[in-house]
Amino acid sequence: MRFDILTLFPEMLEGYFKHSIILRAQEAGHIKIELHNIRDYASGKHRITDEPPFGGGGGMVLKAEPIFSAVESVQSDFGSSDSPVILLTPQGRPFTQESAVALAAKPHLILLCGRYEGVDERVRRYLVTEEISIGDYVLTGGELGAMVVVDAVTRQLPDVLGAEGAADEDSFSTGLLEGPHYTRPETFRSWPVPSVLRSGHEANIKRWRREEALRRTWLRRPDLLLTADLSEGDKLFLAVLAAEQVRKDLEGEDPDS
Ligand code: SAH
Repeated sequence: MRFDILTLFPEMLEGYFKHSIILRAQEAGHIKIELHNIRDYASGKHRITDEPPFGGGGGMVLKAEPIFSAVESVQSDFGSSDSPVILLTPQGRPFTQESAVALAAKPHLILLCGRYEGVDERVRRYLVTEEISIGDYVLTGGELGAMVVVDAVTRQLPDVLGAEGAADEDSFSTGLLEGPHYTRPETFRSWPVPSVLRSGHEANIKRWRREEALRRTWLRRPDLLLTADLSEGDKLFLAVLAAEQVRKDLEGEDPDS
């Protein structure tokens, strides 16, 4: 899968992509990341990429022309103009695990990072095919958003995580939050690892993990339970949790204990 990222600050992203799983995914040929400086596509002696907004109001707006040139050059290099052109913007569709899975099925994504007040509206209207927001807050630029999208999408590609890190048990992938993890030592500062995880009893471990995922989701994101795929056993466990909660409420205990 190929990602082309258009930004005024390619160096901001370089470091992130040079480490860990994203680096290995590139080395193994699962993904290719191309960073483009929008300035390289600007014309004129000064290669101007942003100008004040018409109508006043302060701030700067990224000009349409260099962005169109950059996207068209990437499309011709890839040999297709069908790839999604994604604008990172706080006004976009909220990015979710489901979006990451859907995008992971595409062979090529073009990600456009805005800055300052944003991009000229004609870019959004006539060039961009999809708008993505990484959350309800305003950042100084789209670079963090592009990193978020590349990271979450790459993690979904076959073979990127390897068997032991498989993404199918991750939070959201199952419709639930994932339960807790423990690693060595068995006892840290007198806090032991739950004995079931050391029992070697696979079926019990699987059941415990499912129940802890249900418990976490119920406590932190009960909204997810409305759409999660739940077995009869899961529902029974949730009913027990709810009953326990009622008891704790009556006794005035901390629900997370
Ligand atoms: N004036 C704009 C915000 C500009 S923020 C508005 O009110 O909508 C500058 C740039 O940062 C944006 O062009 C966008 O690329 C990026 N950005 C800011 N917040 C973002 C978010 N939540 N998700 C994705 N990109 C964001």
